[in-house]
Amino acid sequence: MARKKIIAGNWKMNMTPSEAVELVNTLKPLVANEEADVVFCVPAIDIVPVAEACKGSNIQVGAENMYFEEKGAYTGEISPNMLVDAGVKYVILGHSERRGYFGETDADINKKMHKAFEHNLIPIMCCGESLEQREQGVTMDFIRQQVKIGFQGLTADQAKQAVIAYEPIWAIGTGKTATTEQAQEVCKGIRECIAEVYDAATAEAIRIQYGGSVNAATAADLFAQEDIDGGLVGGAALKPDFGKIVNYNK
Ligand code: PEP
Repeated sequence: MARKKIIAGNWKMNMTPSEAVELVNTLKPLVANEEADVVFCVPAIDIVPVAEACKGSNIQVGAENMYFEEKGAYTGEISPNMLVDAGVKYVILGHSERRGYFGETDADINKKMHKAFEHNLIPIMCCGESLEQREQGVTMDFIRQQVKIGFQGLTADQAKQAVIAYEPIWAIGTGKTATTEQAQEVCKGIRECIAEVYDAATAEAIRIQYGGSVNAATAADLFAQEDIDGGLVGGAALKPDFGKIVNYNK
């Protein structure tokens, strides 16, 4: 069965609650595309008003992060139950900004992956190399490690539902998109890694996105690649151009 594309916006630390509702209302008519799952991953404080504003549309709501404990004395964190109760379906885990600025490790991300599945949240697990690693020729070794540790202990059924976002760090927010060949090569390598860890059926089912300066001009070529099942989009997700990205196939 063909994999359904998934195109997700990562709003990062942008948009107050009232700005968020305005943006949803602007984008709502532009992002209808039955052939793709469309997800808006928004700041925690925007989740409730965005979920309300998205009602009746094809937009699904995602979070940008989540903690791996159920509840308790973890000041400032957000629990999976809170997300589910607010109408969240997807959660980005292990974004390179979380790894880089907030010290998240592969082991933390693995705990979050388990917790997400316990609550029927679909994780969008990010991985990706730095420019230095690419130049050193260790891109695939590094990403395989991120994927293997991130997925440790998850069943094949869980892995089939997960989404992996391949996001080379040097391409995020830099305006420097990876070439379609570079993106396809790594996404294929990730699928091969999943086949090794699980089996061919799991590798065939899992959705792998590309992220890193995707825009309306680059989306169609990227998403047409055999192993690229959509995108995780930062900057361009805050603009009407996101409608063109979602409708890359029209
Ligand atoms: C991201 O933050 O996940 C991302 C891909 O950002 P941008 O599209 O702005 O590079």
